[in-house]
Amino acid sequence: MTAPRMEIDLSKITANTRFLVRRLAKRGISVTGVTKAVCGHPDIARAMLEGGAIGLADARISNVKRMREAGIACPLSMIRAPMQCDIEQVVRHCDASYNTEMDTILSLAAAARQLGKVHNVILMVEMGDLREGILPDNVEDIASRVAETPGVAIKGIGANFACMGDVAPTADDMKMLCRMANNVEGVCGPYLELVSGGSSANLPWALGKGTTGRVNNLRLGEAILLGIEPASKQPIEGLHVDAVTLFAEVIETQSKPRSRPVIPVAPALGTPRLVEEDHSTARSILALGQQDTDANGLRFPSGTTYLGSTSDHTVIDTGKSSLPVGNEIQLGVNYSALMRAMTTSDVAKVLLQKDVMTEAIRNGAKRPRLALV
Ligand SMILES: *Cc1c(COP(=O)(O)O)cnc(C)c1O
Repeated sequence: MTAPRMEIDLSKITANTRFLVRRLAKRGISVTGVTKAVCGHPDIARAMLEGGAIGLADARISNVKRMREAGIACPLSMIRAPMQCDIEQVVRHCDASYNTEMDTILSLAAAARQLGKVHNVILMVEMGDLREGILPDNVEDIASRVAETPGVAIKGIGANFACMGDVAPTADDMKMLCRMANNVEGVCGPYLELVSGGSSANLPWALGKGTTGRVNNLRLGEAILLGIEPASKQPIEGLHVDAVTLFAEVIETQSKPRSRPVIPVAPALGTPRLVEEDHSTARSILALGQQDTDANGLRFPSGTTYLGSTSDHTVIDTGKSSLPVGNEIQLGVNYSALMRAMTTSDVAKVLLQKDVMTEAIRNGAKRPRLALV
């Protein structure tokens, strides 16, 4: 089979989504599936919807269009504040967008009026991650200006955590977000449908014991795709952590010294000194490099050690055992390795759907009827 390639088990993506949807439903929280790390891959997006996500969100209009062109008609929101050059496309293809700038909201409103639509705005509030967000003191003012602007409707507020910093949200942060939701309703009247608490980093809070207040949505990418909680980088119990695997081919295996032989010179004497010869070990080169993925974000099989990578090569030490040339090795990916591998066309994407039948039966779904042809 072609290499390098990503194998993506859609049934595990669906199972991860379903697990989170069910657990969060008990806490009054819906799940929006975040597709940016998989470039809006339509089959992966569908696997999230199949698992019960109420809608999808992406950070790039190109990904949104890819999903729309593939026939995905669910609610889709833009989670990165739209660029001026994308305004019209955002209004055309997205049901809502997350915003932090009044100028952008006015442009969205003008485009929406021109297209005879009303675009939904979710205000993103800054709560400590120091990436995007309106400062809490300014939220009510902006909300009332949005409410007065024809062409846009205020649908909700949201917060974002653990993207720039690794700071996970606290129960107090979530209470503050709920208070802001109440205050916004106080100044601009309409009921706020959506209080989106954050991302996968919010799961320890959301699945914990405290009350969830008005938070009724989370935007989840990493937890669904990789089964990992990003702030602690720990696996989440009950989720598959191997839905995505990267395969690379070995193109060289040779016994090489651990490090380049050096002959230190004793400066006082000015003559070379003899040093013990370094042990040689089996080293392999994989046809995979920084241009294909984030090599620092790969998990290597046990018994192998990552030595380094360049744009097209990744070098590993395999100790005493050696990998024949032409063999493939299987690698785990973190979020950044996944994202980069999904972005390049040099890495093939192979979709698997292993357990769908047994899974459907376990979950009480009807067996598909077989038609005689
Ligand atoms: C990427 C992103 C998410 C999803 O984050 P995960 O850690 O993958 O769950 C949610 N919200 C915003 C604004 C994002 O940019």
